[in-house]
Amino acid sequence: MARINDNFTKLPGSYLFSEIARRVSAYRAENPGKNIISLGIGDVTQPLAPTVIKALHEAVDEMSEKETFRGYGPERGYDFLLNAIAENEYKARGVDISIDEIFVSDGAKSDSGNIGDIFSVDNIVAVCDPVYPVYVDTNAMAGRAGEFTSEGRWSKLIYMPCTEENGFTPAIPEKTPDMIYLCFPNNPTGATATKEQLKVWVEYANRNGSVILYDAAYEAFISDPDLPHSIFEIDGARECAIEFRSFSKTAGFTGTRCAYTVVPKELKREGMSLNQLWARRQSTKFNGAPYIVQKGAAAIYTEQGKKEIRSVIDYYMNNAKVIRDGLTKAGLTVYGGVNAPYIWAKTPDGMKSWDCFDKLLKEAGVVTTPGAGFGPSGEGYIRLTAFGSAEATAEAVERLANIL
Ligand SMILES: *Cc1c(COP(=O)(O)O)cnc(C)c1O
Repeated sequence: MARINDNFTKLPGSYLFSEIARRVSAYRAENPGKNIISLGIGDVTQPLAPTVIKALHEAVDEMSEKETFRGYGPERGYDFLLNAIAENEYKARGVDISIDEIFVSDGAKSDSGNIGDIFSVDNIVAVCDPVYPVYVDTNAMAGRAGEFTSEGRWSKLIYMPCTEENGFTPAIPEKTPDMIYLCFPNNPTGATATKEQLKVWVEYANRNGSVILYDAAYEAFISDPDLPHSIFEIDGARECAIEFRSFSKTAGFTGTRCAYTVVPKELKREGMSLNQLWARRQSTKFNGAPYIVQKGAAAIYTEQGKKEIRSVIDYYMNNAKVIRDGLTKAGLTVYGGVNAPYIWAKTPDGMKSWDCFDKLLKEAGVVTTPGAGFGPSGEGYIRLTAFGSAEATAEAVERLANIL
């Protein structure tokens, strides 16, 4: 008899967004015709940039001719995209990353989950709390999280609270982790980390032999010129960090799918190169991102492409400002929304996250995300996203202001 991976049976049911969807559809059934605005799920809404569309079309046409047709590509990505990434994302910021340290993929979600393949199941993992659920659940599936306890925590994970008191940046934990997940700008809190703050983590990881798994999916939303976009802007990070990046939020690729992971060659543990382990993992289990999609992704690095994606990011960040200003005026305490497309708002009068979610849905017809869904320290907060249309965002904020 085939046995199953019983780590899956330990995973708690009812994922955050399915519970939200359930409550929204119940509300919809009771209030037919009522216009509901979602500032909940973190998906983009604006179409792909014209320059990207043009590149996609051209690549499709290449596939129709015998001379330019492409079959399997390099598992690690085409050179034209690797070079464009190294040049525009790293060299332009004074960071030297060579193209054999970049691995193009179909998503940062899959990469940040799959990276566990190259690490021992005995490693101790530290995550922020609140956190992007992928880091937690993929480690639980691998058997690195222990048991899910009645307090809503995994027994083997180290939770690093990110609270109002610490400015939503975690403190070094008491127990030493082997793998440390960090995400800045942060989903869900919208918090950022300074170079000084990241330096503390890099030095800590190098001292203890830990590896930092750095999710920079939102780096394009940074407006403060002093904030680092990459962990590799910090000295010593090449010896202790892996970085995840994605075209999803930067260029609206959530449905088109393209991302990349950087594993520096200096990064070694137990005498083994993690770059080589990841290369081995990817070439065995992955056959590369589509040529057409990589052509589309590379187009964001043309002069015109850069302008177009910048204007979409500005559009979203203007929504973020509308949300921030509106909620602040209505008396809420809000965080984020300046260098990230997420606003992390404290619920009024210490209300529980889910109660606040229900209130905003029932009284204003606005969907948010309850902070408690991202971890115990998210209780008492709701997350709003700036990824809606400007019109819907303005209307949602007006409705919220009227009931708060
Ligand atoms: C959206 C998001 C990503 C991007 O995932 P893709 O699979 O590339 O779409 C990665 N990390 C975080 C924290 C995110 O919110």
